[in-house]
Amino acid sequence: MELRKGIAVSPGIAIARAMVIDSKDYRIPRRSIMASQRAGEIKRVRRAFADAIRELDQIETAKRIEEGAIRDIFAVHMRFLRDKRFLKRVTDYIEKELVTAEYAVSTILREIASHFEKVDDVYISERAADIYDIERRLLTHLLGKVAEEVEHLREEVVIVAHDLAPTQTASFNKTFVKGFATERGGRTSHTAIIARSLGIPAVVALEDLMSCVTAQSTVIIDGNRGVVVIDPDEATLEEYRAHARRFTEFEHELDGFRDIPAVTRDGVPITLLGNVEFPDEAEVVLQKGGQGIGLYRTEFLYLYGGTEPTEDDHYHAYSEVARLMNGKPIVIRTMDLGADKVPHTNRHPQEANPVLGLRSIRYCLQNLPLFKTQLRAILRASTLGDVRVMFPLITTMQELCQAKMILRDVMEDLDEYGVPYNAQMPVGIMIETPSSALTAGLLATESDFFSIGTNDLIQYTLAVDRGNEHVSTMYSAAEPAVLYLIRSVIHDANKAGIGLSVCGEMASEPEFVMLLLGMGVRTLSMAPPLIPEVKKIVCSVTIEECNLLARKVATLDSQRQIKNLLRDAAGRILPVEY
Ligand code: PEP
Ligand code: MG
Repeated sequence: MELRKGIAVSPGIAIARAMVIDSKDYRIPRRSIMASQRAGEIKRVRRAFADAIRELDQIETAKRIEEGAIRDIFAVHMRFLRDKRFLKRVTDYIEKELVTAEYAVSTILREIASHFEKVDDVYISERAADIYDIERRLLTHLLGKVAEEVEHLREEVVIVAHDLAPTQTASFNKTFVKGFATERGGRTSHTAIIARSLGIPAVVALEDLMSCVTAQSTVIIDGNRGVVVIDPDEATLEEYRAHARRFTEFEHELDGFRDIPAVTRDGVPITLLGNVEFPDEAEVVLQKGGQGIGLYRTEFLYLYGGTEPTEDDHYHAYSEVARLMNGKPIVIRTMDLGADKVPHTNRHPQEANPVLGLRSIRYCLQNLPLFKTQLRAILRASTLGDVRVMFPLITTMQELCQAKMILRDVMEDLDEYGVPYNAQMPVGIMIETPSSALTAGLLATESDFFSIGTNDLIQYTLAVDRGNEHVSTMYSAAEPAVLYLIRSVIHDANKAGIGLSVCGEMASEPEFVMLLLGMGVRTLSMAPPLIPEVKKIVCSVTIEECNLLARKVATLDSQRQIKNLLRDAAGRILPVEY
């Protein structure tokens, strides 16, 4: 039995067999096979070689590579892949060591690469990079088969991976994927956000997890406490089954909150909204007692399928949400592509530092046809319900004015063609950067509402990558600098008399709900499955005690003290299971 501690990103407890998948940064742990599986693994290796050769052939033909240096690299790769001795080394290794195809490919190729690296000749030592490249290509073919298996699962599993892309997570079939654990990631990485939306227990930032899990392992994922247990003994299994039962009971108790209003004990109504990515999640918002959609992340329209969505694709998605919400508010955020949300369509540039690069509204303002297509669809959908538009990652007043000018251009186009839309559609912005937080008073003059995106606001304020497990302990909403900015934005929004909500993950973290209420926030937007839990907190407290807590927090100068104080306060409301 082995126990690993990571970051809990999605609550609940899952117990199942492990399904190990590797993505980008391949580090293949040694996994043994039985003698009877040998022939099958060798067949997989041969197929991967054949597929890689075919793929290189296709790239070469399609791109009609003429440039000498690039042609040479392709030739080197081809030579390696066609070299029968090289393939034989890999298959011999499987025969002898009884290991998986992935492990054999990775081990043999890394051996060859390290041999090259040691040669005291620059030309030869640089060939090591080619070997790593060939390794990656072969592994992509081998592991691609695993991806297919995930789609066609017939038994319950927990997914174990080095990292998962948001699109991979979103495609999990909840019936069979009971939870996941990854070596990379942070609480507000988009993969974690999707896990919460799907209601799948998940733990991330588990160092060296891959080296101790095999496909035969039973794994417990404790998404409440951030613990993963590999090959648990009988006593531990029993203990976790009991936890899981208590957690399910608590979830049932929360169901009771669905139809009651979110009002504090001293009578202050709080608006609880859902964050969604896909139209059918609107139904979950309603099932969980949400009063509308506070954040519709539309970039997911771009992340699936090989082509860019058309205006009608957008319109159909928005009109479906409007139909389901039946007059309840829907805040459609214009696309927030970039950073960890990069489309398959390949239009996005490669950047050394994408979080500070051409992402979000910046990308839209440099790709006007794309932006206008989306705005047209949003405006057309604005007649179908209480639809509002929100621009993400606004950093400066100039950016906001530009975005609004383009919106007006699109309105004029629609006027010309007699297409109806709501000319009074509210236009809001996300406050996600220190720059917009500090100039919120100014931005309020051009905005109908603000939504504080704490996931990015924390990242940019503290200069801590939200998806990087190496600095995850430094990423905290309880840092005084973050709270200072939030307080200041609330003050500016109230002074300007415009709407304000919080839609980052902080809005649904039990320890922060009371604090946000005490700081003056009255609208919170979150992953739909978390709405009942937040409602329970709202209904259990008075605004007076929240104000007191917020005043106390303002006197503390370390995130540790603040966190402890907030945890104690939340602990009086929620069971220890949380
Ligand atoms: C945020 O940054 O807080 C936010 C809600 O946006 P996203 O998580 O999609 O970046
Ligand atoms: Mg954001």
